[in-house]
Amino acid sequence: MKAVIFSEHGGPEVLRYADVPEPAIGARDVLVRVRACALNHLDLWVRRGLPGRNIPLPHIPGSDISGEVARIGAEVTNVRVGDRVLLAPGLSCGQCEACVSGRDSFCKDYVLFGTSVPGGCAEFVRSPSVNVIPIPGNLTFEEAAAVPLVFQTAWHMLFDRARLRPAEEVLVIAAGSGVGSAAIQIAKAAGARVIATAGSEPKLAKARALGADEAVLHGGDFAREVKRLTGGRGVDVVFEHVGQATWDQSIFSLKPGGRLVTCGATTGFDAKININYLFVRQLSVLGSFMGFKSELFAALELFKRGLLKPVIDCVMPLERAAEAHKRLENREQFGKVVLSIP
Ligand SMILES: [Zn+2]
Repeated sequence: MKAVIFSEHGGPEVLRYADVPEPAIGARDVLVRVRACALNHLDLWVRRGLPGRNIPLPHIPGSDISGEVARIGAEVTNVRVGDRVLLAPGLSCGQCEACVSGRDSFCKDYVLFGTSVPGGCAEFVRSPSVNVIPIPGNLTFEEAAAVPLVFQTAWHMLFDRARLRPAEEVLVIAAGSGVGSAAIQIAKAAGARVIATAGSEPKLAKARALGADEAVLHGGDFAREVKRLTGGRGVDVVFEHVGQATWDQSIFSLKPGGRLVTCGATTGFDAKININYLFVRQLSVLGSFMGFKSELFAALELFKRGLLKPVIDCVMPLERAAEAHKRLENREQFGKVVLSIP
């Protein structure tokens, strides 16, 4: 089969479109004929090489996958050949305490497609049957691939970690990112008031079109603008994933008792916090990683009801993966960059 692979870590130039063997499946596996695979910032980390993480090379990246069921193992009963499906990105053992209590992202074996196991930038991918989910409503393959990782992540951050309540005010950093465009919609669906940041005027307009009540440029002193928009208070929740470049302003945007939740640091990990400011104002800083399978199902339910929609920046053929990586690396996108295999 055709796949995008890399045999060494590095820039987008290490990605090659090559022939590789088709995966074999076990009794509880499903072979999916991939039709679309959306990129995430994670793909860039995996391609560059993750500190402390050993990725078997050559490697097929891609965590957000949709397609058709091509073949099923002897014990698979939840899907049939030909079904239109998307894959839950997180793989886990399915039998430990974390898994059976529904907290699968805490499983010690938890990995994502396209990290230490082969991903979806290929004509076929093997998946455990428990990860295979029918595509809700009438989403296209490209739209379905744009959903799982970012909506699951944003859901987990806002509800499980930050305990967002209706009528609260949320600041979503970087509306143009996949996770930011998901967070705006989820927070609005939950009844929150949303202020979003973005790096350019066209992106601010798109953030408002997605439902953000206010949109501010995130260069410079955006906390001042956030304070102005909240009657001098600051917001209840800051939704972070940019890290170093926005960290101080994100902290300053919180009202007393506010919660900052973060799932990443695309501009770097070195941030400081004034501990006095933290305890006197009774702030919470919360880490978040991926989400539970149940949260993906909950998000998909809101897609069925038409309350959420995929945000696609562009669709490119699989063989142009390197160009797609560059677009994400240069932050040119608004929403998801999707690779398709017609
Ligand atoms: Zn487990």
